[in-house]
Amino acid sequence: MNFLEERIIKDGLVKSGNVLKVDSFLNHQMDIALIEEIGREFKRRFGHKTISKVMTIEASGIGIAAFVAKEFGVPLVFAKKSKSINIDGEMFVAEVESFTHKNKNQVIVSKKFLHEGEHVLIIDDFLANGCALQGLISIAESAGAIVEGCGIVIEKGFQIGGRVIRNMGYHLESLAIVDAMDAENGSIVFRAQD
Ligand code: 5GP
Repeated sequence: MNFLEERIIKDGLVKSGNVLKVDSFLNHQMDIALIEEIGREFKRRFGHKTISKVMTIEASGIGIAAFVAKEFGVPLVFAKKSKSINIDGEMFVAEVESFTHKNKNQVIVSKKFLHEGEHVLIIDDFLANGCALQGLISIAESAGAIVEGCGIVIEKGFQIGGRVIRNMGYHLESLAIVDAMDAENGSIVFRAQD
C-alpha cells in the first residue's frame, strides 16, 4: 500500500451511496504534510511532461492542486461554479453535474487565464463518474490548450469515470484506486498499482 492508501484505510469512512468520506485529512480538514506528499507524487508521475499550468475545480480541488502547481513552479487556475446564466463571452463554460450534491453547475474559467497552446495538468480530489473531469477537459480544449494529463487523488474504480477518460486517450494517474468498498463493514479494496 502507498502512503495515501494507508491513510484512507486509517481515516477514511465508507458511507452509503458509494461515498468515501476523507474529510478529516483531505477535503475539509487538510493534512498539509500529506498534501505536500501528494504534490510530490504527481510531480514524480508527470514530471517528464512540459506543464505550464495546473487546472482544477472549486472547492476541494484547490488546496491539493496548489501543492502540485508549486512542485511544477507554474500558476494554478481553478474553474468556478457559477449559478448565473448571464455569462459573457469572456469565459470558457462547461456544464458539470455534481456527484455529491446531485445538482448541475455551470463552471467557468476566464479567457484571461487559459490560452491556446498552454500545456495543462488537470488535478482533482475524486473521480467518480467523470463529469467534473470532462468539464475541465472541455474547458481546456475550448481554449486550445493541450491536456498533458489528469491527476486524481482518489479514483473510485467501480464507477465509470476512469474508464471513460482513459478510453478517450488521456493520461490519467490516480494515486489510489478503490475497486470496491462496503458501507456495512467499512471495507475498502484498492487496485494494485506499480
Ligand atoms: P464525478 O464528476 O467524477 O462524478 O465526481 C467527482 C467530484 O465529485 C469530485 O470533484 C468530488 O468533489 C466529488 N466526489 C465524487 N465521489 C466522491 C466521494 O466518494 N467522496 C467525496 N468526498 N467526494 C466525492
